[in-house]
Amino acid sequence: MAQAIAIVNANEFYVSCERVFDPGLLGRPVVVLSNNDGCIISRSREARALNLTMGAPLFKVQDIVEANDVAVFSSNYQLYGDLSLRLVEAFYEFTPDVEVYSIDEAFLGLETHPDQSFRDYGLEIKAKVYQWTGVPCSLGISQTKTLSKVAQRFTKKHAAAQGVLDLTDQADQTSVLEETPVEDVWGVGPAYGKLLAGAGITTARQLRDADRRWVRRRMIVVGARIVEELRGISCLPLERCPQARKSVTCSRSFGVLVEFIEELREAVAVYTTKAAERRRRARLAAGVVRIFVSTNRFSADPQYSNSVTFELAYATDSTEELLAWTRKALERIYRPGYRYKKAGVMLNHLTPADELTTRLFGDERFERSRRLMKAVDEINRKFGRDTVRFDAVRPGGRWETKCLRRSRRYTTCLNEVLRIA
Ligand SMILES: [Mg+2]
Repeated sequence: MAQAIAIVNANEFYVSCERVFDPGLLGRPVVVLSNNDGCIISRSREARALNLTMGAPLFKVQDIVEANDVAVFSSNYQLYGDLSLRLVEAFYEFTPDVEVYSIDEAFLGLETHPDQSFRDYGLEIKAKVYQWTGVPCSLGISQTKTLSKVAQRFTKKHAAAQGVLDLTDQADQTSVLEETPVEDVWGVGPAYGKLLAGAGITTARQLRDADRRWVRRRMIVVGARIVEELRGISCLPLERCPQARKSVTCSRSFGVLVEFIEELREAVAVYTTKAAERRRRARLAAGVVRIFVSTNRFSADPQYSNSVTFELAYATDSTEELLAWTRKALERIYRPGYRYKKAGVMLNHLTPADELTTRLFGDERFERSRRLMKAVDEINRKFGRDTVRFDAVRPGGRWETKCLRRSRRYTTCLNEVLRIA
């Protein structure tokens, strides 16, 4: 039985998600925009061919968009997040060794039978994942995470690979590393790339064959690890249970500038609710609550930004309690006479929710609040977000982030599912 590490990366993930429920987009130029419909953050191959670059503001490329009938979407994170979970579920069909690395990438620990090549196995995974989720992926397979990343990147530039490259063979490694610019190696980046270029190292192969002591001296332990990994010696094992996040933030830029505290209150209440829901799903309670507000620092308006942090006597995961804290916090930092662009809620010092200490006062009340939250979560899960909500939470205000071109939340909102006539 042979073993290897694969990286699976969804191709043009956000665009691919849009295409799952709207196959008419296949073969068309498609782009997805950042929050408030600002800049391009995902492009189809056809859009790339029109020279629509990543990060380009929509208004600057409006001519190209109109002339070529480019399909433009606001980002639909509910859809992308849900399809991302489906991808992960699909990966678990092949191996229990899954490390979710980002919204569209995961490392898999693979084992093959003696009569099966890694390439064939990779092609099988790619085909099944596409069949189950509708999202096309590409795979790089090798002895280490760093080499797998090199392999996956290589498939993007070489159509002949059909999206799967088995880079477990050493001779293959040498020729692929030769063709890979050193700054494209995982963990190198532009800063180290410059340093290495100064020493005459411009390809990944040169870095692999570089003097270990020199690398250790100039790029410390991070660099030494990269070199080992390029040599096929695994230094970065799969992390099956990534460490629980220590904090969570929910913040957005508003769709319009907001002047009055009533509107800010609505926004902060919505963010608080979202952050609290996320924490409960992860079974974590927060010991510290922080909120911040700021004006638009790119405008000529008078500027103001501020934040306030409350350390709670008892950690909590109750929306009801957190709403009371963030409301109080907002009252403290709000100043009239400014036009606010952004607000956010941060929950810190997260601890497992089932290990909360008994409260000296009000424990019964807290338990009641938690039972209420549990019921609310269940109803909202079944019937869609905000079916039941606190009165302070009023989604749909003017302040809401602009997303005029968002597709339907096909998989998470009952009244937005696809209907077949
Ligand atoms: Mg991707």
